[in-house]
Amino acid sequence: MKVCKFGGTSCASADQIRKICDIVLNDPDRKVMVVSAPGKRNREDAKVTDLLIRLAREALDGRDTTSPLLAVADRFAGIAQELGLEEDFQALVIRDLSDRLSQDRSHPGRFSDCLKAAGEDLCARLVARYLGEIGHAARYLGPAEAGLYLSDEFGNAQVLPESYDNLSRIADFPGVTVFPGFFGMTRGGDIATFPRGGSDITGSILAAAIRADVYENWTDVDSVYAVNPALVRNPHPVSEITYDEMRELAYAGFSVLHEEALAPSFRHDIPVNIRNTNNPTAQGTMIVRHRANFEGTVTGIAGAKGFSMITMSRYLMNREVGFALKVLKILADEDIPFEHMPSGIDSISIVIRRDVFPPEKEKKVLDRLQAELGLDRISVEHGLAIVMIVGEAMARTVGVTARAASALAKAGVNLEIINQGASEISVMFGIREEYCNYAVKELYKEFFLK
Ligand code: ASP
Repeated sequence: MKVCKFGGTSCASADQIRKICDIVLNDPDRKVMVVSAPGKRNREDAKVTDLLIRLAREALDGRDTTSPLLAVADRFAGIAQELGLEEDFQALVIRDLSDRLSQDRSHPGRFSDCLKAAGEDLCARLVARYLGEIGHAARYLGPAEAGLYLSDEFGNAQVLPESYDNLSRIADFPGVTVFPGFFGMTRGGDIATFPRGGSDITGSILAAAIRADVYENWTDVDSVYAVNPALVRNPHPVSEITYDEMRELAYAGFSVLHEEALAPSFRHDIPVNIRNTNNPTAQGTMIVRHRANFEGTVTGIAGAKGFSMITMSRYLMNREVGFALKVLKILADEDIPFEHMPSGIDSISIVIRRDVFPPEKEKKVLDRLQAELGLDRISVEHGLAIVMIVGEAMARTVGVTARAASALAKAGVNLEIINQGASEISVMFGIREEYCNYAVKELYKEFFLK
């Protein structure tokens, strides 16, 4: 059995919806499809989810909601009409959204999630209806009925463990089950959404729950590439990659799959296949536990901006038991997750994402570190980027770090941090943010074009 998730561009128009239905009907193993809300048809277009977020905001601010409401209704009505559906989707969407708008607004996050979820929910209903109308056994199944339960962290929810058992029988249905991505129900009966792009997570959960043979993630690129295609022309396509490699690359900005989406598939050993709705004959990229084929030492290169680093030093720090513990305790008290902790003999640095370290927290944390740890020096540097080279084969190849460092040195990029992960499948460099794209391109030249 295969679970197929179709992203926003794959659901953006009537033509795209015909394509995804063809894909599903072409293979009897494709029994469960997860759909996103209609995304952009072209660069200037709006994503339905963005329209719904606007709708929620206008409502919460007490402004007139007619324009975003009609924009969403028109979008669905246009698709339904082009697909030749009998039902009046314009009226159906207006009814559905008006009902959501009439919900309690005292908790803005909960209210917004209820509206955000409408894009996926209506899209799944529409696709199921279309499959029925062209003569195939299909049903819409939603999280409430199927038992997909999430934590009540609105906009950032996590799956609750009982969901897997609840969902395990969804493929018993003899036809195609169409399931909306992106949201689930809290134990209290409210709608909660995953973070943006979260339909990938829904697909992965369903694939794990039914123990699918493969989780197919249909998007708009032929495969995963060794480097961001926006930076390099005709980048090297990756036919096979491990979960671990993918995870490390996602961390440093690879955006093919949502960062949290691999975990359910990984835990249940379900291979993930990235495929292209607009070119279904391309075999795409397989994400697997173990790889058999190694084309080169490095599998991928990525870079992410937006990091800061606190550096602390104190004479004879290495002799003091529990120093790092005290540093981390202060960060934990302030609810700041840390990313990396390079250390020297009498100094230690903490790398943090800038977005979780706003100026008001910065002052408080620095004051506490200084006062509670008796430091000789403390400084903070913003505007750093993390560049990573990743590859399973690196663990048994000598000299990869040297080659990368020397390529960056030749290109005039100053290295502020070097960190080889404990897993040995990646090497990370901390550099100034303005050099990020340039460094990624130089590393790509070194490992893929030489
Ligand atoms: N529609 C949602 C978003 O735009 C979720 C998704 O497409 O995966 O974020």
